[in-house]
Amino acid sequence: MKILFEKANILFHDGTSMKNAYLLTDGAKIAKISAEKPEGGFDRVVNCEKKMLCPGLYNCHAHSPMSIFRGYGENLPLDRWLSEKIWPAEDKLCDANVRLGSMLSIAEMLKNGIVSFSDMYFFSETTVKTVIESGIKANVGRCITAFDPAITAESDSRFNEGVELHKAYHGAAEGRVRIDMSIHAEYTTVESTCRYVSDYAAEHGLGMQLHLSETAKEHAEGIARRNGKTPAEFFLETGVFRVPTTAAHCVHVSDDDIKILAENGVSVAHNPASNLKLGSGIMPLTKLYDAGVNITLGTDGSASNNTLDILKEAYLAALLQKGTTGDTAKFSSAPFVTMATVNGAKAQGRAGAGVIAEGAPADIILIDLNAINTMPYFDLADTFLFAANSANVCLTMVDGKILYENGVLLTIDEEKLKHDFAKMTAEFYRDM
Ligand SMILES: [Zn+2]
Repeated sequence: MKILFEKANILFHDGTSMKNAYLLTDGAKIAKISAEKPEGGFDRVVNCEKKMLCPGLYNCHAHSPMSIFRGYGENLPLDRWLSEKIWPAEDKLCDANVRLGSMLSIAEMLKNGIVSFSDMYFFSETTVKTVIESGIKANVGRCITAFDPAITAESDSRFNEGVELHKAYHGAAEGRVRIDMSIHAEYTTVESTCRYVSDYAAEHGLGMQLHLSETAKEHAEGIARRNGKTPAEFFLETGVFRVPTTAAHCVHVSDDDIKILAENGVSVAHNPASNLKLGSGIMPLTKLYDAGVNITLGTDGSASNNTLDILKEAYLAALLQKGTTGDTAKFSSAPFVTMATVNGAKAQGRAGAGVIAEGAPADIILIDLNAINTMPYFDLADTFLFAANSANVCLTMVDGKILYENGVLLTIDEEKLKHDFAKMTAEFYRDM
């Protein structure tokens, strides 16, 4: 299928732009970008006057089934929120409700211009199936927790689920699905688990997803638990950072930790909304950026955010840096476009993706520039970051297939999904 986007205002991943351009997709790839209309026949022409065409957005930290818990357990700090609300509710999950939870999250993400997400949770095979069915991309990891120091690779059922997931689905759906390994966090793991999980990931070229130094309490308790080593030092020493890792949060990392992250090529997933809502603090983005760390954006789960909206995270990330440093000129808008797009693709091990370029995967979104809140516009990166919101996303294309256009999801029956989800949650919360 050849689709021509004509008269587009293209915003590239580095914040540069091209006005009144033509972009042709052929199958799953971007075939041509030009100032003149390309020759030949097209299956469809999309008029992009008064629209911004940019790379699809990456959500590098999510727990997609947690849409079930949206609004359940508000106004609590992280430790109480987990132990009093989330963990007891998670005991009631099953394949059927996780399927609806993940699909609802995917529907929301596609409408918000997200083309790929990183997910760490359980019932992972069910989530992978919803990814395949919907057409979105995802890196899915079976989240592993372990508390018995004597645990082995053979006896760890969670690890073995992750291995089975890798064998069955890594590279599935023409590469849309990638399987990562996932260690929940320093405070929920033991040394042996870090070693055999990272050995497996290193041996098979897989990525790693984990939570790192999200709260001050967790960071301080980690240092006490590990004989003076910070969580980042603990993961370095147990071999985890040999593996291409995405570390979510990093709110309380030390200057030495930042050096470790930079030297080991660890990507950071910045989740400003979740960190603020749970009272965890503000990630030192400027220090991480200056150290050369690959910074990506994430939403975290719907229970701690409560939306899956990367444009909102980019906006918050930018404002927090200006507000906390008092320096409005340190960052232009461009680095935040980069964080929302190509940095995410890099963290997910998707070489060549996250950009608008000939030969790149056709992962493209259109943003309305003719909306009340986006006019007038000057620099496209500024409009992307400060004016546009997810309601302005009018088209989401993944690997050359349009999955969302003008309010309509094309691979998901939204009304049926909402009906089934409402019925399921009514039953889920009946006795709670
Ligand atoms: Zn998380």
